[in-house]
Amino acid sequence: MTPAGRFAPSPSGELHVGNLRTAVLAWLFARSTGRDFLLRVEDLDRARAGAEAEQLRDLAAIGVTWDGAVVHQTDRGELYRDAIQQLTSAGLTYECFCTRREIQEAPSAPHAPQGAYPGTCRNLDPAELEVKRSLRPAAIRLRAGVGEYTVNDVLHGDFTGVVDDFVLRRNDGVTAYNLAVVVDDAAQGIDQVVRGDDLLPSTPRQAYLASLLHIPVPEYAHVPLVVNSDGARLAKRDGAVTLGDLSRAGVAAAEVRDLILRSLGLPAGTLEQALSGFTPGSLPREPWVWRGVGVERGSQGGRSGA
Ligand code: GLU
Repeated sequence: MTPAGRFAPSPSGELHVGNLRTAVLAWLFARSTGRDFLLRVEDLDRARAGAEAEQLRDLAAIGVTWDGAVVHQTDRGELYRDAIQQLTSAGLTYECFCTRREIQEAPSAPHAPQGAYPGTCRNLDPAELEVKRSLRPAAIRLRAGVGEYTVNDVLHGDFTGVVDDFVLRRNDGVTAYNLAVVVDDAAQGIDQVVRGDDLLPSTPRQAYLASLLHIPVPEYAHVPLVVNSDGARLAKRDGAVTLGDLSRAGVAAAEVRDLILRSLGLPAGTLEQALSGFTPGSLPREPWVWRGVGVERGSQGGRSGA
């Protein structure tokens, strides 16, 4: 398999300039290192009819090209089941019957990090298991052997974060994101993961899981998000932020692409033209502050907000 990078959107709505900028970065990282670039639609959850087609159209409109067919997580249940089976055979999973509320109200173990699963169902005896099974369906959790794990990131260096007994399969039968992403990246030959830095805190869990599944850990680069002028993560309510809205405001896709490239300190033009000037080491480390298209258009060549 050719080594590859990827973009893995959740088809929950239209992509905005922040999502598109992450896609451009993932593309630049992959193409500048001779990798393939794959698209995976993360449709296990949060799928909205029609959103995938809009997302693919908008990626193509700004020049993001991809190799091979688009992969859908909903087609990959067998792979996820196999991985959970492998972990279960090694004694590395358990059934959990806790509701969200029970988890919130449970006293946390001493020194346990904030938000970590308190371990309520970790050691149920057979009689307790039988009673709980008769009451509600179980989620499957990882029986983690560590409390934290360290990953290396191209932009963040070493990053150590919490690993708890996180959910692998929800009690409604849906595979959890942390399991699916690890299994999919490995199965698709993806050895470079470039995505928004909101996902950095989940990365130690994923890398630890990869190690348990004897899967190589990919190279990670968690890139800064785009924020609005209040510093909050960009969202639809921040005005014209999707290609559709921007085009209605008279801004063509090629101009949006150029604004994104300029925000990265790269010259306007096609993505191929930007490749020769792309060096991860000189990327802005701060979020890009999107102040509205009027302001962005007017900011000449600078990295606004950087
Ligand atoms: N599907 C996730 C999202 O859209 C991205 C997951 C990933 O890149 O690992 O936020």
